[in-house]
Amino acid sequence: MSLKERLVEHIEENGPLTVSDFMAFCLYDPRDGYYATRPALGGASADFLTAPEASQMFGELLGLWCAHEWDALGKPAFNWIELGPGRGVLMQDAWRATERIEGMHDAAALVLVEMSGPLRDEQAARLPHAEWATRLEDAPPGPSLLIANEFLDCLPVRQFVRGEDGWHEKLVGIDEAKKLTFGLSSALPAPDSEDEPGAVREVAPGMESLIYEVEQRLHAAPGRALFIDYGYTQPEGADTLQALQQHKHVDPLAAPGEADLTAHVDFARFAHLAREAGLLVYGPITQGQFLRGLGIDYRADALAQANPQHADRLAREMRRLTHDEEMGALFKVICLSSPNLPPPAGF
Ligand code: SAH
Repeated sequence: MSLKERLVEHIEENGPLTVSDFMAFCLYDPRDGYYATRPALGGASADFLTAPEASQMFGELLGLWCAHEWDALGKPAFNWIELGPGRGVLMQDAWRATERIEGMHDAAALVLVEMSGPLRDEQAARLPHAEWATRLEDAPPGPSLLIANEFLDCLPVRQFVRGEDGWHEKLVGIDEAKKLTFGLSSALPAPDSEDEPGAVREVAPGMESLIYEVEQRLHAAPGRALFIDYGYTQPEGADTLQALQQHKHVDPLAAPGEADLTAHVDFARFAHLAREAGLLVYGPITQGQFLRGLGIDYRADALAQANPQHADRLAREMRRLTHDEEMGALFKVICLSSPNLPPPAGF
């Protein structure tokens, strides 16, 4: 039975699913989920191209950022943690870029938080010295530097739609022909709001547990957690659920498990929850601002001088990472920090 057939049966027996349950099935089902069945997220056949896959400069600069923050922590033995490392390219570039930072690699225990078996294999091929955890809370205790690129957007969201008579939760059900279809719950008793009818609000329950795990870690021992993702700082009332297959937007209900499902990250809420939890919060700023602040222009110049034959490609990559019309403005960077530390680099 395909995942789609199993979902139809599940809905027949138990009623409609929330969008967040639907996303969780599509992404994490151990047999047919997107991450369980995609051995190679990157390369030409990828459904999407992430920043580290687009340019080595991305991982290199994040590696140097970590070196700076390791220094700010007083150069302790530390967990160098990545959430959702994909093919492991980012950390491979970060590791190479910090080879000459004296003592850093000896002090680092590399911990990759990844639930996909095929992707763990890809990561192991690039980072044979790493260890793996399924959840952040399973990573060893101690000082931590944590990075996560395009991880928050995988966290399933619930969606609420403003109607004339109140808020309705968006649900995934089936129609008479037993086809998956979106529907709405009956109206929820909810306070009045300024939102126009048709406005959609999204809530990611997994974000709350993630912040809790980060907060526990950063209060128990000093550290920083850097998140990069696409998202907004002001909710616009839009439905941001999207399904990507081979670089194309597809219907999220068409082929469950075969497309990557994501939602934009609500950075205002993320920052609010982290502050409430007693962490220091820097940003969100745009990816363009952050990378320029870390000196991507100098890095690109240096690489181009050493490899003049690649100068054009490097200029294209830098544009892709930093320009407002490419990844520079839609992607945001936010840093959560233990209290009593100086501000991190780049903010
Ligand atoms: N950071 C990589 C890949 C982003 S894709 C890059 O920038 O190229 C998202 C990654 O997060 C994948 O490795 C996926 O398997 C992992 N992932 C998604 N949800 C997860 C979860 N709940 N727990 C652990 N890993 C998860």
